[in-house]
Amino acid sequence: MIKEKLYLKAKTLEQAIYEANAHIDSFRYIAGGTDVIVNKFQGNEESSYLIDISGIDELKNTFLIGNFLSIGSLVRLDDLKKNKHLVQHFPALLEAAHSVASPMIRKTATLGGNLLCENRCSFYNQSEWWREAVGYCLKCDGDICIATGGKKNCFSKFVSDTAVVLISMNANIEVIENNISTIVPLESIYTGDGVSPRKFNKTAIIKSIQLPMHEEFKSVYKKLRQRESLEFSSLTTAVTINKSGKIKIVLGGVDPKPVVVEGATKDEKEELISQAIKKARIVDNDVYSREYRKEMIGVYLNRSFEELV
Ligand SMILES: Cc1cc2nc3c(=O)[nH]c(=O)nc-3n(C[C@H](O)[C@H](O)[C@H](O)COP(=O)(O)OP(=O)(O)OC[C@H]3O[C@@H](n4cnc5c(N)ncnc54)[C@H](O)[C@@H]3O)c2cc1C
Repeated sequence: MIKEKLYLKAKTLEQAIYEANAHIDSFRYIAGGTDVIVNKFQGNEESSYLIDISGIDELKNTFLIGNFLSIGSLVRLDDLKKNKHLVQHFPALLEAAHSVASPMIRKTATLGGNLLCENRCSFYNQSEWWREAVGYCLKCDGDICIATGGKKNCFSKFVSDTAVVLISMNANIEVIENNISTIVPLESIYTGDGVSPRKFNKTAIIKSIQLPMHEEFKSVYKKLRQRESLEFSSLTTAVTINKSGKIKIVLGGVDPKPVVVEGATKDEKEELISQAIKKARIVDNDVYSREYRKEMIGVYLNRSFEELV
């Protein structure tokens, strides 16, 4: 009898990608494992073969390259604050990383894993037994969205806190796919479809996250959650202005993908805020009501603009 592989600790990128291609239907990469393993216990993650990429050294390097700071995807959220460039130029990213989960989880969770953590919904992040009792939802092979009663769209929430700030700062990611490296805007990998929230080849690996140093960003980050100590986002906001007065507003926790609104300092602040509120497809799938979260977008964005001025 051939024994099925359950776990591999890959030593190199090439080995991880080779193994992934050889087990395309049954594998999942894990970095810190703080998202994948919890989903596995809830019966929301079916991969039987885990390829652990946490030992691949070339994913751990952080360095300056031209006008960019390149952060290795395996850098742990808790270690980001040790980087002097991040402290000096991107404090809002550190704030976002610090708002993820709890101290112990942040010592294991990685930045790359955070960008790809699974969307969430009060009707999906439940036990197998609970989901079966309600007849399952669109995100787990059911035929109805329990939050809206609709049959077409899944509105599971995009919850990565660091992605919201990174997108507001025009971050790119370096992706290795079949040993070829490409650099794409982080924003471009999110689809807006709650069932398959990412346009990202399953065997691809994020090598690094790249932040422009020359734009001299000023950012304000805010997160609404039930408990300050440990909770996923009910609403995350980032407002960033660069040195030439370009504004980028990004919202998380209120749509299946990050909501992005761009403008300039000459634009009416109220108009930008109202665009952001209109764009967010908020449904009742969180501990806070749809109406409250909608209201809070305006409150947080107004406060962010005041702080930036
Ligand atoms: C109690 C609790 C609270 C949490 N609270 C928050 C929160 O407030 N905010 C938040 O954003 N998250 C939260 N999380 C989710 C999770 O801890 C974080 O998103 C974390 O950063 C995920 O990183 P990881 O390295 O553990 O990812 P993993 O679980 O290892 O992986 C997550 C996904 O990314 C893929 N992946 C990982 N690294 C790479 C890579 N380099 N290239 C390609 N694919 C990769 C994996 O295949 C998987 O699909 C919480 C989790 C728990 C258990």
